[in-house]
Amino acid sequence: MRIPLLAANWKMHKTVGEAAAFVRALAPELARLPGRDVVLAPPFTALAASVEAARGTPVLIAAQDVHFERDGAFTGEVSALMLQDVGATHVIVGHSERRRLFGDTDEWVNLKARAAVAAGLVPIVCIGETLTERERGDTLAVLDRQVKAGLDGLGADQVGALVLAYEPVWAIGTGRNATPGEADEAHRHIRGRLRQWFGGGAADRCRILYGGSVKPDNAGALMALPDVDGALVGGASLEVRRFVEIIARSV
Ligand code: PEP
Repeated sequence: MRIPLLAANWKMHKTVGEAAAFVRALAPELARLPGRDVVLAPPFTALAASVEAARGTPVLIAAQDVHFERDGAFTGEVSALMLQDVGATHVIVGHSERRRLFGDTDEWVNLKARAAVAAGLVPIVCIGETLTERERGDTLAVLDRQVKAGLDGLGADQVGALVLAYEPVWAIGTGRNATPGEADEAHRHIRGRLRQWFGGGAADRCRILYGGSVKPDNAGALMALPDVDGALVGGASLEVRRFVEIIARSV
């Protein structure tokens, strides 16, 4: 019922030329992998060239962050309208690196998600517990807080159309992925909360991705879980061959 979505988060990697070359190499591979949505998130500088290279292909382009104001004196920031103008269709908000290194709060994540929706972009809202929170037994409470705060003020239709990414912080860039059992518990819990807070329609439509050291050899088991609707991939999305192998394992 939900089309799997594979999203590549390139973080601070790839020049304009490298990003465009990746899109051109990936696009023909997707012809043999129908039935999935594929989104690439290059750095801001490579958005325009990536959109251009993706024109006429199924590849969609996301930004890695957005500011929630429409315009103004916010040096270094980019608005949702600017992203929509350059041709991005999605934007990642609340990535744990933004939360940890750049101070994004739940409230900011919510403002960013709402600004994205208002501009017609699909937010990919990242949530996930730290290792300390997991070891304390707080995982589900942290997810509740992040989902509730992050989606505050959005309606059921809007929640149904957006994307959540469950990314346990201890699994990002560490090579240590959640086990299928851990991912299953978190994803089921999140979908249950969406059902409780936004209704069955929104819960059934909203795609919940898993992220955290997804690689070709663990992608199949994670994406076979009923409430895992795809993956947000960092390191393993930087090479076309590895990312294609992950896409091929999503069904
Ligand atoms: C990410 O940055 O969203 C991520 C999941 O990274 P990695 O796949 O490298 O753990």
